[in-house]
Amino acid sequence: MTTPGPSEERASKLAFRTEMNFDYGVASEVAPGVRRIVANNPGPFTYKGTNTYIVGHGDVAVIDPGPDDAAHLKALSEALRGERITQILITHTHRDHTEAVVPLKDYSGAPVLAFGNTGKERGARTTSPSGKAFVDLELAPDEILKDGDTIKGGDWALDAIHTPGHAPDHLCFAFVGQRTVLSGDHVMGWNTTVVAPPEGSMADYISSLERLLDRNDKVFLPGHGGRIETPRRVVRAYLMHRKMRESAIYGCLESGDRFIPQIVPKIYGSLDAKLAPAAALSVLAHLEHLVDRGLVECEELPAAIHSAFSIPPSSPLP
Ligand SMILES: [Zn+2]
Repeated sequence: MTTPGPSEERASKLAFRTEMNFDYGVASEVAPGVRRIVANNPGPFTYKGTNTYIVGHGDVAVIDPGPDDAAHLKALSEALRGERITQILITHTHRDHTEAVVPLKDYSGAPVLAFGNTGKERGARTTSPSGKAFVDLELAPDEILKDGDTIKGGDWALDAIHTPGHAPDHLCFAFVGQRTVLSGDHVMGWNTTVVAPPEGSMADYISSLERLLDRNDKVFLPGHGGRIETPRRVVRAYLMHRKMRESAIYGCLESGDRFIPQIVPKIYGSLDAKLAPAAALSVLAHLEHLVDRGLVECEELPAAIHSAFSIPPSSPLP
């Protein structure tokens, strides 16, 4: 295997769909039976902000209440005047999705449903891609959801799909009979998903993407960014992108690099300083996945950001 050249690296760049029509604080119908309100918390990891979704009419579910922002909660309560929140669902326990859970629960009395504790090590402050604590360890669900569970309301039903990778507790919610999936931060159209160990796992992420290929959906509604109208094509492109990233990283090791700081500039070029820690963690996630399969060796396990990596003499080609 040779180091991918510039044309291959270019080919691994994804065509992101970055346009998104919305006004902060306004609920708009984005699919039959699904309304979206975008929270005003834009940033390098949240794009325009966190999407909060309302599923159904009358007795509704709220998916991902969003950040702690009084204006966002007020917009949500105004959009739901005369209706009742029967469930609060969480795609994953990252603060940009969950900070408003407690105030929304106090306001509505609705139970909180989430995957709950996975028993896996979670991302800590020191490993946060944004440099801040982003995992919400305090969230206590009233009901635990597992893969395949169905949550029902007046005119809707959602199937929970466990999709670890970005976060170990990540769930997507498939709107039964609508070929619509609320995809959380697992699949987003505006950017690739952050997979940052120990919170994220590349092996899990890739198998969670493959699971979505087996389905026949026509729309994904992500946790950040606009509707994805060709979901299977996007999922296939993401899988291809990860494969090319992995080849490029393997190529760096073949050409003698051993450390993540040597590899990052070759993969990402010049990077916004805010995004550099996430890039390093993403490279670590790929290296972990290569180590898991015996294709790459690491002097210490679990592998860390400062570890030395190399290709063992016996490595089969990835
Ligand atoms: Zn998010």
